[in-house]
Amino acid sequence: MLATHNEHKLSEFARLLPGHELVGLPAGSEAPVEDGDSFAANALIKARAGAAISDLPTVADDSGICVERLAGAPGIFSARWAGEQCDDAANLKKLIDQTEPGDRLEYICAIAYCDPQSGTEQVVEGSCLGIRAAEPRGSGGFGYDPAFEPVGAPGQTMAELSGAEKDRISHRGNAVRELSELLGDR
Ligand code: IMP
Repeated sequence: MLATHNEHKLSEFARLLPGHELVGLPAGSEAPVEDGDSFAANALIKARAGAAISDLPTVADDSGICVERLAGAPGIFSARWAGEQCDDAANLKKLIDQTEPGDRLEYICAIAYCDPQSGTEQVVEGSCLGIRAAEPRGSGGFGYDPAFEPVGAPGQTMAELSGAEKDRISHRGNAVRELSELLGDR
């Protein structure tokens, strides 16, 4: 199980974990309170909750963007940075308003894996460095991608890359590769 209601994450994980059949959280199921103080703690909260609901080996990610100029904010608060009811567009606007072109950014993704049968729990982390684009560009990806120029693809935003190109350099791609190695998946 992939413990998320986020369709974008589901499709990225489906790309990143070929050979695994992934199910998302049942529609309408309640998400656990993410009151951890780190990406890793929140990923573990979500994975444990998903495993408890499904009794399946479960992965969950907690991810976000950290802005050097803002001392690492919004970090674990990235999903609701522009307010409780905000959406990707409002968050992206806030990033553009609060930063300058060229500011250093970092995407971070923690992935927790819980296997309820064996009791195994693992947490891995991946990151991706980038800079703030002069203006938002591109229609791929999600969230802050139109403003994020990864150092691994200079001159292009994450939202201008294909799915495969994003996976090759993204925080989520790096974390999944780490997890696959840990679990002896490849
Ligand atoms: P979470 O669902 O609590 O992990 O929140 C993650 C939030 O971080 C998302 O809603 C996005 O705002 C941001 N984020 C995480 N990963 C990405 C990404 O790959 N691209 C763009 N934004 C991302």
